[in-house]
Amino acid sequence: YNSTHPMERKEQIINRYLICLAPAGLAAVGWSVYGFPVQKADIGLLILSVITVFFSSYLRIQLPRTKIHLTISDALIFLSFLRYGGEVAVMLAVLETAFTSLNFRRQGVTIRFKTVVINILIAAVSSFGTAMAVKLIFGSAETVLRSGDNSMYLWLLAAMAIPQFLINSVLVASFLAIKTGNTVWGVWNDYCLNAFVMFFSGAALAGVCQKSLDQINIFMFIGVVGIFAVVYLTYRRYTDDVRRTGAKAENAERARAEQAEEHVRELQHYVAELEKSGHALAESREKFRHAAYHDALTGLPNRNQFLEALKELLAKSRTGENRRFAVLFLDLNRFKMLNESLGHSVGDRMISDVGERLSQMVRGTDLVGRFSGDEFAILLTDLNNTAAVMNFAEKVAKQISEPFTLEGRQIFTSVSIGIAFGTSVYNHAEEILRDADIAMYYAKETQRDYVIFDREMHTRAVSLLELETDLRFAVDRNEFELFYQPIVDLDDLKLKGFEALIRWNHPTRGLVPPFEFISLAESTGIIIPMTIMILRQACRQMAAWQRMSDDNADLIVSVNLSAKHFKHPALIDEIRAILIDTGLRPTSLKLEITESAVMENAETAIEMLQKIKATGVTISIDDFGTGYSSLSYLHRFPIDTLKIDRSFVSTMEAGSENGEIVRTVIALARALKLNVIAEGIESIHQLHQLRNLGCEMGQGYLFSRPLPAGEIQKLLADTSRWRNILPPNEFGVIAKNAEYTQLRLPN
Ligand code: C2E
Ligand code: MG
Ligand code: MG
Repeated sequence: YNSTHPMERKEQIINRYLICLAPAGLAAVGWSVYGFPVQKADIGLLILSVITVFFSSYLRIQLPRTKIHLTISDALIFLSFLRYGGEVAVMLAVLETAFTSLNFRRQGVTIRFKTVVINILIAAVSSFGTAMAVKLIFGSAETVLRSGDNSMYLWLLAAMAIPQFLINSVLVASFLAIKTGNTVWGVWNDYCLNAFVMFFSGAALAGVCQKSLDQINIFMFIGVVGIFAVVYLTYRRYTDDVRRTGAKAENAERARAEQAEEHVRELQHYVAELEKSGHALAESREKFRHAAYHDALTGLPNRNQFLEALKELLAKSRTGENRRFAVLFLDLNRFKMLNESLGHSVGDRMISDVGERLSQMVRGTDLVGRFSGDEFAILLTDLNNTAAVMNFAEKVAKQISEPFTLEGRQIFTSVSIGIAFGTSVYNHAEEILRDADIAMYYAKETQRDYVIFDREMHTRAVSLLELETDLRFAVDRNEFELFYQPIVDLDDLKLKGFEALIRWNHPTRGLVPPFEFISLAESTGIIIPMTIMILRQACRQMAAWQRMSDDNADLIVSVNLSAKHFKHPALIDEIRAILIDTGLRPTSLKLEITESAVMENAETAIEMLQKIKATGVTISIDDFGTGYSSLSYLHRFPIDTLKIDRSFVSTMEAGSENGEIVRTVIALARALKLNVIAEGIESIHQLHQLRNLGCEMGQGYLFSRPLPAGEIQKLLADTSRWRNILPPNEFGVIAKNAEYTQLRLPN
């Protein structure tokens, strides 16, 4: 045996099982054929046989969550037993099993022919055993039925179910044990419940059917069958549902499992990748570390490392471990210009040299870092007193102002230093740097070598920052208001127009004057939307005033244009659009551009001015005299008006230097055929002087302060309001009185 293959061994045992079973089965079949009750055969038997053999197996249900299958065939075979005797029951059991097995095969279920034979033999033997048991106990089923004894009847049903159950379960269990290699007991244990329920419920059903067929009537039988059918169908529906949801849940479960598997695979892949890159990272970690903490150009510690060191010191100073320390924030003056004029490679060399000089000046415990561009920082530790730091800052400033020799040239620079002391008021290293930076800004502003930070600077810086934030919202919230200051003809004191001047109605600060926020608006870029808004509003307002009366038809509005906006390429289109939108004639709008704005880059300014001129809008040079106008350019500028700066007018004395400047500007304007407007006329005396010099127009508090649009409305109604400033015989004489010198312009 040991040499044979286990499969072959199993086959041999199955064969032996078959050989043992076959005689009993054949005997049973023979007995049923021999004893078939031909005399009892009726239409009822035919119907019962057809249903049992051909249809009963279709009525098959599995109890959910169990292995128990119920079919109606066992009940029908029991019924045939009760009505027609054991021979018919054996016959039907054999035929039903054969048909069902073959049907399974036809449906594609793989059942070996040998198994089909064994199934048939088991059915035959177990039915035969039942028949024999009943015969032995009761003689025949018929006698029990006829007796009408109900308890006897119940015993009869039990006598059918028990042997059927025992013989069938033992034979099936043995066969399955051989097939699966498990013990007979184990298989039986598994299967017996199924068989038990199957046969006992079958016997019970058969018993009920027989009773109703016999004792009551055929309609009752149909009724019972109907009820069974309904119960069966309902139950079938229910089990199908349970199975379907079960299958669905199973599918979902499987999908989830697959997903999880996929996820795990991805994770593994990711981890592998990570490990790979982690390896590469480790190799260059040192390089990265160095790059992260050092400036590439000078090799000095960068902002990151500087901050780390500062943090460490700050922590130590909190525990009282460390003496005072200070941070010096350095910025080279005019480096940008130097970089642009001498080239970036020279600029880079310069930065390296500065770094070197600074490094040589500090002790080993100090730290020099380069942050960006021309920004350096020095960390001084173990300080005794403030004077030591000031001394050091002076020395640094002196060292940096020594000439650098680059590419054979001597180059000079200087530095602005901001100093902040490390004290326990600081929670973060960044704050110390920030304050040193603020102090540096003050040093630059006041042109000192170094400035030590104080609280007030911080307050001012914060307030500036707040103002900046507020300014960003001011345009959207429409917090700006235009004031208008009259411009007056100095000859007849008639109104010529207005200069529009912006005011900011700050929600908490009240009316903020322009000098506090214009440069902020310029540096933040807000100036552009702001000016567009101003232009639109001023034009709309002027158009409205012009429509009000014919007297106003020639009034002009002047709008100040920032140097930043003047460079903006979209400006021309915007001006055009605004003029069209508001319906103001181009000649009624004048743009004021400061002298310094146009002189900064004269060639491009000329181009831009020509484009503005092409729209029909006139141009005025504001604050004239304060910039460094090159006369050779001035005559090329396509401008209409010069505005003499207020500072000259206010200190104008006959024969004084400022008086001469005003005189010269007026003469220049005449020579260039430009209009002149004097700003800031506050007294009658100034008015007389300007008239004597031949100045045509003026504006100032003498006539009116800048006023909101509503006030201007009243002013427009009173056209002769300034006439009484002068006696009537003085009107219309400026041109005659004007005493000016003819200037010769350079070519
Ligand atoms: P600006 O264009 O030279 O304007 C004239 C300034 O002189 C105005 O100051 C005006 O109120 C003031 N002023 C006029 N007459 C007198 C006087 O008799 N005595 C004195 N002491 N001052 C007089 P404001 O309105 O404070 O504007 C200051 C500057 O702010 C303006 O100088 C201008 O450069 C700028 N600005 C004002 N509004 C705007 C604007 O809408 N856009 C732009 N870009 N800048 C503006
Ligand atoms: Mg102006
Ligand atoms: Mg001005």
